[in-house]
Amino acid sequence: ERAALTVLRDAQAITLDGISIRLEANIELPEEAAVAMSAGADGIGLFRSEFLFMGRPDLPGEEEQYQAYASVVRTMQGRPVTIRTLDLGADKTLDGEVTVATNPALGLRAIRYCLANPELFSTQLRALLRASQHGPVRILIPMISHMHEVLATRQAIAAARAELDARGQTYSDKIELGAMVEIPAIAIAIEPFVADLDFLSIGTNDLIQYTLAIDRGDNDVADLYDPLHPAVLRLIANTINAGERAGKPVSVCGEMAGDARVTRMLLGLGLKEFSMHPQQLLDVKKEVRLAHTNALRVKVASALNRAEPIDLAALAA
Ligand code: PEP
Ligand code: MG
Repeated sequence: ERAALTVLRDAQAITLDGISIRLEANIELPEEAAVAMSAGADGIGLFRSEFLFMGRPDLPGEEEQYQAYASVVRTMQGRPVTIRTLDLGADKTLDGEVTVATNPALGLRAIRYCLANPELFSTQLRALLRASQHGPVRILIPMISHMHEVLATRQAIAAARAELDARGQTYSDKIELGAMVEIPAIAIAIEPFVADLDFLSIGTNDLIQYTLAIDRGDNDVADLYDPLHPAVLRLIANTINAGERAGKPVSVCGEMAGDARVTRMLLGLGLKEFSMHPQQLLDVKKEVRLAHTNALRVKVASALNRAEPIDLAALAA
């Protein structure tokens, strides 16, 4: 059993028809990078940086953040590390912070919160930039809904670079910028985002919540939280197709990416990058290695045009 797992860990994630699939890891704390490495991850697809800020009375400063990001980058030994800027608000709040928002999920959350707190944001950006001297860092912006937020983020990054320049501190200038696709608006009107950004990552957890108007944490409506709803699948498909046309990488980093029951369906939608809990990586890799992407693409494309929900069983072998 153990030997079989080791073989699988070192095996390539390649489909039967020869398509290479990237399998990356989601982490919440720097120590988990080692777990990602031992699971054979191709990189970190999502580092939820807000966990460095939660469950403590104070905020981590630039130096502490730099050390945390740099340790992940070093542990990953040249594999890309995608660090999401703070996604605070809604289900993730700072200690002692009381939200007064009418509806926190629709309020001052994530990139909105960061742009409203420029000191907090620039501290994080300087730490991220400094970490990029140790290996490939990609900056991922959560909860983008407008192009002007992308522009404001670029301006904040430029200002952070200027501050580091003034201090004589080094950073890589090849840092990539991407956005989470987790608000339906941008999955629908995706073109300007895919044209401007270096990569996209679909956050299905929030995308499902906002598309179906189902609070992701509310048990009373949990049965309506359906990752396979045709509207959700069409938004995912639209994003993947736009990325393909523009030659920009698109990943899924929500829970769906680590659910081996839907791996074939995601391959059939054209997905080539998955990011998940490290423990799920080998199960997904097993599915990838048994899949025939081109056959799945034909099956999934025709299923998307039908009224009834997609039949996962019909996608098996
Ligand atoms: C998502 O929304 O799918 C996601 C990956 O981010 P989080 O679960 O942290 O909101
Ligand atoms: Mg999210």
